[in-house]
Amino acid sequence: MNAPANARTSAASEEIASWFQPHVPAMAGYTPGEQPRGGNPIKLNTNENPYPPSPRVLEALRNAIDERLRLYPDPTATAYRQTVADVLGVDPAMVLAGNGSDDLLTILTRAFAGPGRLIVAPTPSYILYRTLAQLQNAPFVEVPYRDDWSLDFDAIVAHQPRLTLLANPNSPSGTALAPEHVGELAARLEGPLVVDEAYADFADANCLNLIARHPNVIVTRSLSKGYGLAGLRVGHLIARPEVVAHLNKVKDSYNCDALSIVGAAAALKDATYLAHTRRLVIATRQRLAQAMRSQFGCQVPESQANFVWCVGGVATEATYLALKERGILTRWMRYPGIVEGLRISVGTDEHIDQLLSALNDIVKLS
Ligand SMILES: *Cc1c(COP(=O)(O)O)cnc(C)c1O
Repeated sequence: MNAPANARTSAASEEIASWFQPHVPAMAGYTPGEQPRGGNPIKLNTNENPYPPSPRVLEALRNAIDERLRLYPDPTATAYRQTVADVLGVDPAMVLAGNGSDDLLTILTRAFAGPGRLIVAPTPSYILYRTLAQLQNAPFVEVPYRDDWSLDFDAIVAHQPRLTLLANPNSPSGTALAPEHVGELAARLEGPLVVDEAYADFADANCLNLIARHPNVIVTRSLSKGYGLAGLRVGHLIARPEVVAHLNKVKDSYNCDALSIVGAAAALKDATYLAHTRRLVIATRQRLAQAMRSQFGCQVPESQANFVWCVGGVATEATYLALKERGILTRWMRYPGIVEGLRISVGTDEHIDQLLSALNDIVKLS
C-alpha cells in the first residue's frame, strides 16, 4: 500500500542478511512436521509413540522437581550415561548424552564436517541431514537408494566422505540394512559412519556390535520414538572412548537439563514397559501395512520402524489433505525427482481404525 515504506523494508532486510555468514540467509532451514496446537487431531505425522512414557518416568520427574533446580545439571550426565552403559553392556566412556539425537547429529556435523569436508547420506532419508550440512557450510552429496532399498556402497565410498550419515532403520522408508552389511560399508570408509538408530527400538537388529570391530562406527539413539519421550529431548550416542572424548569438547556445556537426565534414566531402566509398548506398535504396524497394500493399492516396504511408507494407490497429496480435513495428520513427503509418498506413523489400534475408515470414505468419494 505504501511504496516508499516497502522499499525501505526490503533495503533493511538485505542489509540484515548481509550481517550473516552468506550460507545462513541462503539456506531454507529445516521444516519439522506440524505440531498443531488445539483441534486435537489424530497425530500420525511425526512418529511419536502413541503410548505414554513409562509411569516410572513420570514418578522420577515429579521427585526431581524441587529446589535442586537451582543448580546446573551434571555437564556429562554421568548417571544417565551409566544407565545407558548398563542397559547396552558398554563402557560409560563410550556414551555421550544429547538433547535429543538431533543435538548429537549437530555435534557430529560440527566435529567432522565443514567447508571442503564432505557429508554423504543416502536419499530419500532424514531431511535434517541436509540442513545440518548447510549450517556447517559443508558440501553435501546424496546417494540414491536402489528400488529395493539396498544401497550402492561403491557410489558412497567413491565420494571419500569426511562423514557418512545412515539412518537405519531409514526414514521415510522404514527399511533397514542388515548390521553385517553396514559393517561392510564401515570397513570401506575412511571417515566416520554415523548409524542413526532413532528407530532401533522397533527393529529386529541394530549396529551396536559393529563398534568393536569398526572404530569408525558411531551409533545414535533417541528416547523420542521407542520410549515415548519426544517432549523431553534426550538421546545418546555410542562410539569408541577416543571419539567420545573429542565430541565432548564440541557439545554445549550443559546440553542435557537436570529433569531430562532423571526422566530418561528411569525410562531406560523400565525394560518391561518398553517391551510391552514395542509389541503393541509392531502388531499395529503389520496390520496397517497390510491394509495399505491390500485395500488401498499402495506399495509399502517392510517396516522396521514405527511408521509405514506408502507410494502409489491412495497415497497422494490429495489424500493427505482429505485426511487432514478429517482431523488426521499424516506426512506428505516429497523428494524432488526421486519419489513422493505418504508416511503414516503407527498409532493406537483405535487411531489406525479411524484412519482406515477415513481412507475408505475418501476412496468412495473420489
Ligand atoms: C526422529 C528422528 C531423529 C531425532 O530424534 P530426537 O531424539 O527427537 O532428536 C533422528 N533421526 C531420525 C532418522 C529421526 O527420524
